[in-house]
Amino acid sequence: MAEFSFRAGDPADFLPGQYALLDLPGVAGARAYSMSNLPNGEGLWQFVIKQIGAGRGGAALFEGLQPGDTIGLDGPYGMAHLRPDNDRDIVCVGGGSGISPLLSILAAAARAPQLASKRLLLFYGGRTPADLCAPALLARDEALARRVECVTAISDPAHAGAWEGQRGFVHQVLQGWLESAGDASRYDYYFCGPPPMTDALQRLLMLEKRVPTAQLHFDRFV
Ligand SMILES: Cc1cc2nc3c(=O)[nH]c(=O)nc-3n(C[C@H](O)[C@H](O)[C@H](O)COP(=O)(O)OP(=O)(O)OC[C@H]3O[C@@H](n4cnc5c(N)ncnc54)[C@H](O)[C@@H]3O)c2cc1C
Repeated sequence: MAEFSFRAGDPADFLPGQYALLDLPGVAGARAYSMSNLPNGEGLWQFVIKQIGAGRGGAALFEGLQPGDTIGLDGPYGMAHLRPDNDRDIVCVGGGSGISPLLSILAAAARAPQLASKRLLLFYGGRTPADLCAPALLARDEALARRVECVTAISDPAHAGAWEGQRGFVHQVLQGWLESAGDASRYDYYFCGPPPMTDALQRLLMLEKRVPTAQLHFDRFV
């Protein structure tokens, strides 16, 4: 995984949690990537991207692109953006590059005056301890470091080593936390990642916990 930065001529005008379509040199078809930074007047668009197997977009980004190269960027798109205008605490859930839009959402929430008294939680899962980049990414930003309560978990016990934190898939860790957190409908949920994770979270929150769908905001990284 790596963070990529692109500079456009116009202001980077988007809502935290949205994504853009990137046209990469030599790759047929655009690829969707979610912005990890905040909207800004300098035209800076940043993305945390994971290279997956022999994927062509990943190869173009990680092996083909050089600093100074030009790509196509179309956006913003997406409905899984921060809704700051309500009275609920915020729970973000993700794994892998799903951290990208969650960083943007949490950075905006941590700076929103109307959310100053709200809890901001991040549940972040990885296969091994080495996959858990979330604490380091939060630590880069003083507002994130101060405001976000981060719970990490690993899903592969064979690679646990000296790990003493939570174990299990991230949706299972959230499920355990909700047992003692009171009414699950007190929170707004933002999540992004591979379909098995987003599907499991939908089942947990919609069907088991009866959280209104208007409080669930998510993108499946198909
Ligand atoms: C809303 C959304 C947000 C996402 N955000 C992120 C993010 O922030 N970080 C991240 O790492 N990943 C993100 N992804 C996943 C990302 O878009 C890619 O699917 C993933 O990186 C693998 O891409 P690849 O090109 O390396 O793999 P490939 O296997 O080459 O392609 C992946 C997908 O691209 C599409 N595709 C392939 N060829 C064509 C073609 N000719 N024309 C049109 N479409 C084609 C297909 O849907 C294919 O499954 C997001 C996905 C979605 C839907």
